[in-house]
Amino acid sequence: MITKVYKINRDNIDTDKLKEAAAILQTGGLVAFPTETVYGLGADAMNPDASRKIYAAKGRPSDNPLIVHISKWEDLEKIARDISGKAKKLADAFWPGPLTMILNKKDQVPKETTGGLNTVAVRMPKDEIALRLIEESGCLIAAPSANTSGRPSPTLAEHVLKDLNGRIPLILDGGEVGIGIESTIIDLTEEIPVILRPGRITNEFLKKVVGAIPIVRGIFSKVSGVKPKAPGMKYRHYAPKAGLVLVEGEEENVIAKINALTEELQKHEKKVGIIGTDETVSRYLGDYVISIGARKDEEGIARHLYRILRDFDELGVEMIYSESFSSQGIGQAIMNRLLKAAGHQILEV
Ligand code: AMP
Ligand code: MG
Repeated sequence: MITKVYKINRDNIDTDKLKEAAAILQTGGLVAFPTETVYGLGADAMNPDASRKIYAAKGRPSDNPLIVHISKWEDLEKIARDISGKAKKLADAFWPGPLTMILNKKDQVPKETTGGLNTVAVRMPKDEIALRLIEESGCLIAAPSANTSGRPSPTLAEHVLKDLNGRIPLILDGGEVGIGIESTIIDLTEEIPVILRPGRITNEFLKKVVGAIPIVRGIFSKVSGVKPKAPGMKYRHYAPKAGLVLVEGEEENVIAKINALTEELQKHEKKVGIIGTDETVSRYLGDYVISIGARKDEEGIARHLYRILRDFDELGVEMIYSESFSSQGIGQAIMNRLLKAAGHQILEV
């Protein structure tokens, strides 16, 4: 299969290209498209065969459910039951935006879309291209991140092409995404809502609308014997091909440790990549040192993270050492992704 890539101008969306994408979705095919979080791989959520194609294209385990993307509140009522007051408040405050809610599903939603669960994950994206695609197609669009399963999520159309070239008919290229990490996921099916995945909508925001929401166990550590509530969380995720180790501690100690580890590997002719910050990059010795941004610019750090992991793969780096970040605010989502990408390998110095 030839994979077409259409550049789309968000401020002046080409209707013919949009219609072509919509027609693919309506006939059960796949289209990758930008959202404000990461690129999604979309299919008609109500068509079980279409959903199955997503799993096949990504190599995604069939028990890892998909997020259904909608463009208006009435779409939610088509697929979810028991929509609580809290869900309404959250939608009012954060939709369209990077918040996914888990609700009980209506019978019409195929199990293929929900990975066999009786619940459904729903989000109204903010990206104009995503919203117009949902509306033009008349479909509710099931879309996980448009990467090969396990790899870092795509923040550029080029990342999607790299992973899925020849496996899908069309990519809508809307340039670099704005947020760069996946949506915050909240499970609203139990008495007490719980955050299953931290994201750009942080607890500081949530607190103002519905009170603080606890975060599910096992987000920052490997917990054995606990069944993950978001099935996707049990798989290795967001991972570059190289090994990744985080180093945590006082800045001076971190720089010294990373430089010592790097020298050791370079003696054995290994290519090493280092993820530093604007404040520290000039002090590292590695072959490839990249700044993820200024420490105080957490939004920038989130936006750059996956691209840097992918860039190191392109450079053929065998080992990556990264500084670690505060677990407050957006930092919680950044550290969650970094720890998963590192397989929880973290050195305290
Ligand atoms: P992705 O879009 O690739 O980030 O994957 C969607 C994420 O949402 C995965 O981590 C899933 O496990 C999670 N998810 C989707 N539907 C549900 C659901 N019904 N219950 C719990 N987690 C879900
Ligand atoms: Mg994903």
